[in-house]
Amino acid sequence: MPHVVIVGGGLAGMAAAVALVKSDFRVTLLESRPRLGGRASSFVDQTTGTTIDNCQHVNLGCCTNFLHFCQETGIADSLRTEHSLTFVGPNRRLHSLKASWLPAPLHLLPSFARLSYLSWYDKWRLAWGLRALAHRRNATSEMLMSDWLVQQRQTPGTISRVWQVVLVSALSETLDRITVRDARKVFVDAFLANRHGWEMQVPTVPLDTLYSERVGEWLRSHHVDVRQQVGVKQIAIADNRVQHVVLRDGQLIDADDLILAVPARLVAALLPSGIAQHPTLSQLEQLEWAPISSVHLWFDRPFLPVPHATLVDRLSQWIFSRGSTVQPDGTLAEYYQVVISASRMLANRTQLEIVADIVRELSEIWPEAAAARLLKSRVVTEHKACLSMLPGNDKLRPDQATIVSNLFLAGDWTRTGWPSTMEGAVRSGYLAAEAICRRHGTPRAFVQPDLPVSRLSRLLFGL
Ligand SMILES: Cc1cc2nc3c(=O)[nH]c(=O)nc-3n(C[C@H](O)[C@H](O)[C@H](O)COP(=O)(O)OP(=O)(O)OC[C@H]3O[C@@H](n4cnc5c(N)ncnc54)[C@H](O)[C@@H]3O)c2cc1C
Repeated sequence: MPHVVIVGGGLAGMAAAVALVKSDFRVTLLESRPRLGGRASSFVDQTTGTTIDNCQHVNLGCCTNFLHFCQETGIADSLRTEHSLTFVGPNRRLHSLKASWLPAPLHLLPSFARLSYLSWYDKWRLAWGLRALAHRRNATSEMLMSDWLVQQRQTPGTISRVWQVVLVSALSETLDRITVRDARKVFVDAFLANRHGWEMQVPTVPLDTLYSERVGEWLRSHHVDVRQQVGVKQIAIADNRVQHVVLRDGQLIDADDLILAVPARLVAALLPSGIAQHPTLSQLEQLEWAPISSVHLWFDRPFLPVPHATLVDRLSQWIFSRGSTVQPDGTLAEYYQVVISASRMLANRTQLEIVADIVRELSEIWPEAAAARLLKSRVVTEHKACLSMLPGNDKLRPDQATIVSNLFLAGDWTRTGWPSTMEGAVRSGYLAAEAICRRHGTPRAFVQPDLPVSRLSRLLFGL
């Protein structure tokens, strides 16, 4: 039984382990931190003693590989599907986005038509813009979305209240740092191709429970040798083959195949310099990343009338209700998380200033929030949260197979055809596993098909 060593216990590494162990490989998964999950994980907040997620993670219905991974590992029952999304307009009115009986791509049309913060002219221009975007078949356009929107005569209202709201949340970047190709993928996959593509899934338990505990348990019960707090120092390569990995404590582990599923910026340091200098790997340094901030707020009472809301034209982009938590003094607090993607605008501001602005915004929308007492708060910024979908960035993303015969890469930064999301990470793990099966002469398909495209979308847009 060939032995595959996977370095990195984020979603990419875990997905590769799931695929390979089911295909009769012996798998060892090495993770340097005490928990699995990588960027999708939790930590213990020292001031409250509670386990909190680094940031709320959500998933859309079009992410078929992530959902497959959750089903395979038995964690799908811990995801709640939202069949309605709540938008709060600048006029403070709440709108719920729901699918009507109409087939895709018209299923959300009635909800969009009811948005009170867009004029009828905005709605007309938006429909026009969406049609034009969908028609860019096989769009490889490296044009910036901000330029394309001007070219398509999109109004300031559609830009700031629809295009920006959707794309900044989905791609964690501002419109002047997103290509038309990537924007098109978001709108086609999530909103136009299939009536379930936009439905949001939210974990009902902390990320740590989901990945570190439950997926970790699944992997161990399927005989994956999962080792946490085991960092890899170096990968020994000779005769164009990985020979073994050297752990930080000096121990060696032999490998027939190796998947490097660490963040892109750490790859070069683990490889011999001759390999790391190969253009496909040395150019990883040029990848640009976007920050995401999450603002954790504990109030003395609940105020949000819905489980989540998207706030339009405000600093706060999303708010999620995370339920009641017990405080160290035994009292209950209502825990909310506000997410701000592409949060460079917060760089020079103190936590106090950020929290004050957010609480003011929430109080403007919900008078109950003004009456509530803020007990605690915390701002967490992940500076390299997601890849920027800049022109040219996609060309810098390497394939999972490398110039070394038994060395493979996985991670949301490898070439998957997807933005760097949990779906992208799982796809990369499955692709790396497929490449290993091919190398051993037993080709297998792990990557799942996309949601089927509705007949009307095919007819209207040739999708
Ligand atoms: C704040 C934030 C919010 C996000 N929100 C969403 C969202 O809502 N929806 C969504 O789909 N995506 C979201 N993402 C993106 C998503 O988290 C990532 O795309 C995904 O988790 C990446 O997984 P990965 O396995 O590719 O990499 P990582 O999660 O970075 O995993 C790499 C792993 O390698 C380990 N490692 C590093 N060096 C070594 C070593 N020497 N030896 C052993 N192990 C090592 C690391 O500890 C880590 O666990 C968000 C990301 C952030 C940061």
